[in-house]
Formats: sequence, structure tokens, C-alpha cells
Amino acid sequence: MIKFKLSILGTNAATPAHGRITSTQALELDNDIIIIDCGEACQIRLQEYKIKPSKINVICISHLHGDHIFGLPGLLTSFSNNGRMSDLNIIGPTGIQEYVEDVLRHSNSYLSYKIHFTELIHSDGSEVIYGSKNYHIKAFPLNHRVLAYGYIFEEKLGHFNIKADSIQKYNLSVEEIRLVKSGQNIKRDSGYIQYRDCVKAKPKQRSYAYCSDTQYEPKIIEFIKYCQYLYHETTYDQSLAVLARERKHSTATEAAKIAKAAQVECLITGHYSGRYRHVEILADEARKTFPNVKTGYDGMIINFERIKPLELN
Ligand SMILES: [Zn+2]
Ligand SMILES: [Zn+2]
Repeated sequence: MIKFKLSILGTNAATPAHGRITSTQALELDNDIIIIDCGEACQIRLQEYKIKPSKINVICISHLHGDHIFGLPGLLTSFSNNGRMSDLNIIGPTGIQEYVEDVLRHSNSYLSYKIHFTELIHSDGSEVIYGSKNYHIKAFPLNHRVLAYGYIFEEKLGHFNIKADSIQKYNLSVEEIRLVKSGQNIKRDSGYIQYRDCVKAKPKQRSYAYCSDTQYEPKIIEFIKYCQYLYHETTYDQSLAVLARERKHSTATEAAKIAKAAQVECLITGHYSGRYRHVEILADEARKTFPNVKTGYDGMIINFERIKPLELN
């Protein structure tokens, strides 16, 4: 079984507050370490939690607001200072390459290694944007003030076997059969066909969905359906729902509604407004709608387990 370990390193929105830094996570997946967003002080947290920079080979950025990217230039130049030679993959919305290159140029910085950029622009659907033999990463659009993407990290468990009657039931083409066998949903004009409805059961693969920043957006439910863990921003409590909508953020109740509709196993809260010194009230609010909620905090570590076999129709 491959390694699947999440370290949540920063859970505050906008600015550091109450000992919380801004959005940063490290996901150890197979032999890779993937950084998800890169807020200020990311490097300090990596040191605190003994996460090896040399194993970081993918960085996924949700969007270009400062609380998600102001730690990135420092991290990139530190790699160089430590003599990094191996290539790095940076994935993010269109503009991420220009941001990195501009900062490096204006600070007269040179890197000892090569960066491969994957810039995202799609406004619909969930696309596989990175993968290895043992896992893949998908990106899908969120609904925020600027172009923003959520990510799903999913281990691969080999191909599913197709249920013979599903071919006729959904009139699947040869290409569509290939897609559902590899665990991908099919997009039709009338909506999505879930691959789980077309294939036979096998142990459930571990998966993690990251949704920050976004307003309440039911469109994402299809993309994160049945995910094991969902990190969804809970910037405000429900009494500030109007403010949340204005700033295109979510309340704890709204995040819980998404978790419930997507039938995930567990919701993790985070991206807290600095007005909350104690954030348990946000998790408690979410629990009224969706019971299995973990209160996210800087330093939270989750080792993903295969909890139960996949239940298929
Ligand atoms: Zn943010
Ligand atoms: Zn933002």
C-alpha cells in the first residue's frame, strides 16, 4: 500500500493570526511530496514537521491570492540554495508562471533546477492534470473572486472490471468503457455518469479533495463525490453568510452541505477568518448538518487508511 499522509500546515485566511499561518499543506503520496498552496511561513512549517524539501516534486496552487502564494518564491529559491537539481512541477491557474518568473527576475534570483508549469484554464469539468503509476491528481474549477481550482488526489488500484449490463444501460462507447474502467466519470449532455455505477466492486481507493477558496458551489459536488476526506474552506459562521457571499467564501454550514451532498466520509474545516480565535464553533456549526467533521489546525496529520470496501450498486 502506498504512503498517503496529509500534513495541514496552515489554516488561516488572509493573514497569519492566533498562531495559524495561511494556507499550506503537504501531502506525502507514494514516493512524492505534494505541496498544496504555499502561504507565508510555509518553509518554517516544513522544518517544524520535518518534511523533506528534496522530496517535494509537485506544487499545486489553488489561486493567485497572496495568502496562497506568498510563500512560494522563498521556497523555490531555498531549493536552489540547497543545491536542488531535480525538476519541479508547478500546477495552478493561468498566471502562475508569470508570477513566479516575475518575482525571480525582480529579485535577481536564479534557480539550479528546471520548473515544469501546468497552467489551468478550464471552466468546466474535472481533468486529470498530473499522475504517476500509483496516483493521479485532478483539478476542477471553484467559484471565487479570481480563477481558482480545487484538487483531488486519488490513489490508483488498477483497473475496474466493467459490469456487462452497464454497457447497454448507458450505451457506452469503447472509449467510455476505457474511461470508466480507469475510474473516470463520463460527461454527457444530461449530466455525469459515475464510473462507480458501471463497474464491479473492489477495495475503495483512498482520496483527498481540497476546496479552498470558494463560495458555496453545488457544481463541485459531482467532482468530489464519495471522496474519503474533504478539506473545504469554512471561513465564516452562518451569521456572516451575506459577507461570505460578497467575498465569495463559504460558511461552515455551506461546507457541511457540500460534504453531505457529496457523501464524503469526513469533512476537515479550515481557512478561518482571523476574527475567530477559537475555531471549534465553526466545526460545531458544520456538525449540525454533517456529523463527521474534523477541526482542521496547523500541524494536523492524517494517515489515510482504507476504511471500508467500496459499495457499488
Ligand atoms: Zn484564501
Ligand atoms: Zn482567495
